[in-house]
Amino acid sequence: MDKTEHLKPVNDHHLLISAQKNFEELKERFFELYILYALSKNLNFFLQTEDLFGKTISLLKDLLKIEDFCFMLIDENYDELKIWKASNDTYESAKDVTFKIGEGISGTVVQIGEPILVSDVSKEERFLYYKGRIRDIGSFLSVPLKLSDGKVMGVLNIQKREINGFKEQDKALFSAIAHSIAHTIERARRYEKAQREAMYDDLTTLYTRRYFLESCYQEWNKTERHGNNFSIIIADIDYFKYFNDTYGHALGDEILKKVASTLKSNVRQGDVVSRYGGEEFGLLLPETDKEGAVVIAEKLRTMVRNELAKEVHISRVRKVTITAGVATYPDDGKTVEELIATADKYLYLGKESGRDRVVNAPLDDMFWGRDEKRSCVRHKAALKIVKGKNHIQLIELKVNDENWKMCAIRDVSRNGFKGELELLTDIDTDYMCRNYLCKVVMDSENGLPHIFSIRIAHAIKIHQNHHKRYVIGVEILDEQNGWERLFDLLRH
Ligand code: GH3
Ligand code: MG
Ligand code: MG
Repeated sequence: MDKTEHLKPVNDHHLLISAQKNFEELKERFFELYILYALSKNLNFFLQTEDLFGKTISLLKDLLKIEDFCFMLIDENYDELKIWKASNDTYESAKDVTFKIGEGISGTVVQIGEPILVSDVSKEERFLYYKGRIRDIGSFLSVPLKLSDGKVMGVLNIQKREINGFKEQDKALFSAIAHSIAHTIERARRYEKAQREAMYDDLTTLYTRRYFLESCYQEWNKTERHGNNFSIIIADIDYFKYFNDTYGHALGDEILKKVASTLKSNVRQGDVVSRYGGEEFGLLLPETDKEGAVVIAEKLRTMVRNELAKEVHISRVRKVTITAGVATYPDDGKTVEELIATADKYLYLGKESGRDRVVNAPLDDMFWGRDEKRSCVRHKAALKIVKGKNHIQLIELKVNDENWKMCAIRDVSRNGFKGELELLTDIDTDYMCRNYLCKVVMDSENGLPHIFSIRIAHAIKIHQNHHKRYVIGVEILDEQNGWERLFDLLRH
């Protein structure tokens, strides 16, 4: 053999062509790898599906020269594929087309979880031309949007006008691209779900406390710059524990939802209604002064009071009502924290002075008078308290200089006296107000039948020197006006 043979120049034509082909293939592979790298590098940034789509489109268009494509995602409620996003022409022609799982090429790809390449769609019976909406398709590639755990969330379809528009290896390339996109969609969905959860309360679908506070800070920033007002309402359901205890938690939840939707549907679009706590609601009213906010709070209070009884179907239900505190920037607080604290303080005053009311300023004596409109009647009464063993069961009213009359009550210690018990239960203490004297006798549990219950809402010392005398605001939980009738009866 000629020893110099291997040094001969390559002049064999076939060899040259083959080397060139290898080089072209290598270049193509490299290009594909580059695309995958570019895609995954870019997709990593996206947390919102909308941004993700924009970037994916430009990659498909610029790098791969793909003009017509379509993402279809499974709508789990209907178990069918719907177009999520597509190139303009495809979207315009076919946006409302859906495929059942197993239907057409796209439905089959979802079913088998593998790509299908159709080189000539006219010879493929399963091909449905997007249910007849797009006719000028020659070849078609459909690849599953598949996650690593094998779950298929939809398909990526690419169509070309010419027959044989795809190479066999495109299946692998686009499968890898689709895999990358599927992961990004899943990640974006998870992120969006987490965002939704941080933003909305599950039970009531109102905004969460966190979102409410963030909105308040934003509004504060805006208002500080432009010098305007905004208001905050904190509202709380009255005697909610009573509803839970008497009718069960399920009804409690039902009431919460109804109150939530009543609040939401009676404010303006830009207002933020949130579930601030268990049965407490926080409302942000942008660009609203005190007067405007009180009008809204009053409207909400009335709506809850009047509308809810019609909707919550339980017999002899005590009316669902709310008490609200209203605070306005900047008069009631220079910061969000101060405003909320003020609204909270007013809410507390509203509770103390009888509930089912809106409070937007410190209370004056007006609140301790009789209020015809409320079913919880408020009285100033003089009570004489005689301490017994356990429960307060009797009230004695002094109806004239000589006579005392006694009436039966129940559970006053639980419903009525609560924290004030210690203040007011010195044995035989007289309480004086107007012309009446009252006396409450605390005695054993086996007392007289239930007529109504009383809550001591407020107590003011009348004589500085005599620390045991108080004017007491009593709230009678008595929808039938039993107290009123009884009071008249005893006086005459
Ligand atoms: P007040 O008029 O003073 O506000 O009396 P209240 O009974 O409404 O107030 P309290 O704070 O004593 O009771 C609130 C109750 O709300 C206690 C809690 O079990 C209940 N609650 C909180 N969140 C939920 C919820 O999601 N569902 C139900 N059913 N109850 C809840
Ligand atoms: Mg409450
Ligand atoms: Mg509460």
